[in-house]
Amino acid sequence: MNMLRPLNQAETSGKINLCGLSRDELRASLIENGVAEGKAKMRAQQLWHWIYNRGATSFDVMTNVSKDMQAMLDGKFEIRRPEVSLAQLSEDGTRKWLVRLDDGNEVEAVFIPEDDRGTLCVSSQVGCTLTCKFCHTGTQRMVRNLTAAEIVGQVMIARDALGEWPSPADGRLLSNIVLMGMGEPLYNFDNVKQAMKIVMDPEGISLSKRRITLSTSGVVPMMQRCGEEIGVNLAVSLHAVRNETRDAIMPINNKYPLEQLLTACANYHGVSNARRITFEYAMLKGVNDSLDDAKELVRLLKKYDIPAKVNLIPFNPWPGTAFECSDWDTIHAFSEYVFGAGISAPIRMPRGRDIMAACGQLKSASEKVRKADLLKAEAGNPPA
Ligand code: SAH
Ligand code: SF4
Repeated sequence: MNMLRPLNQAETSGKINLCGLSRDELRASLIENGVAEGKAKMRAQQLWHWIYNRGATSFDVMTNVSKDMQAMLDGKFEIRRPEVSLAQLSEDGTRKWLVRLDDGNEVEAVFIPEDDRGTLCVSSQVGCTLTCKFCHTGTQRMVRNLTAAEIVGQVMIARDALGEWPSPADGRLLSNIVLMGMGEPLYNFDNVKQAMKIVMDPEGISLSKRRITLSTSGVVPMMQRCGEEIGVNLAVSLHAVRNETRDAIMPINNKYPLEQLLTACANYHGVSNARRITFEYAMLKGVNDSLDDAKELVRLLKKYDIPAKVNLIPFNPWPGTAFECSDWDTIHAFSEYVFGAGISAPIRMPRGRDIMAACGQLKSASEKVRKADLLKAEAGNPPA
């Protein structure tokens, strides 16, 4: 059985937060706090259902739990999400929550509604150590891993806001999760894994692994475990097709160069034409956007024989960045070339730009610069 870790314990209440514990941890915690061993499994089952299927935030709604037991649980435990310090709604329907953690750090979660799905973009770390040159999160100084509770907490917050309890069988607003917020999820493997196991659990939130995508900048040694132990779809932040360029804009490439990265992609567990790897490619003017780059991209994907789709992301500017988005014609030409070679390469229109919710723009509000600077940077935008 897993050791019980102090997860997200509220400094004020001193109670143990049940939200974010694995099933084993939940049961162990009940036993440690006086629930009879013989009953602990059944109680854990009940609580799991109330927490993750019904969205309960207190024990008094648990009609199949006696009043005495409710009082006992309430004395020792709580069911708590991190605090929302700011909720924003974009003119295009995108929502962003600034989530305040118990230690005062903040992360962001973004909900993107589309016609046929609704995707929650979840953060895995406060900041990111990888300092990719085009990414706002990479400029944040404060970095730490999120706990499983803090990762699951973002999903709970979104479902609270969308009013999506109990878990609907179909027609969900929140139908997909992408680990594409702040941080490198494969640098926080254990907590990401635990959190995803919780959201995939069929008796709780019950999201299929096929509806979850983890995005990595290319932490090669962890990619195999991700496929085998979590089983979610993989997205890879590629952004360059030559080591020289990728070294310059993504420092992790110095450690795990393209050959290693693409080999790990080709071997990713469960990959097939029906379950392709997504390659994200931010279009950076004069850096990675030539037709030669497009040709090299196609050559590499064919050489390594990777069932792939490519998402072309017009670079999203942020205050102080040295990069510019490629011209519209250049992006279209790139896309057409890759499509022409038989590989899907749609251009991803940025969402929630007015609330700085687009890819690579996330950064704690506490570290954000003045609005005037932001407007200055926005003035240099390409036509959207
Ligand atoms: N750290 C992980 C998860 C973040 S995903 C990763 O890098 O994959 C966020 C995606 O947005 C990544 O593909 C990232 O490379 C991309 N991105 C970062 N900054 C961007 C920007 N300014 N414009 C467009 N895409 C950006
Ligand atoms: Fe970190 Fe991903 Fe941003 Fe790179 S692109 S700095 S890995 S969050």
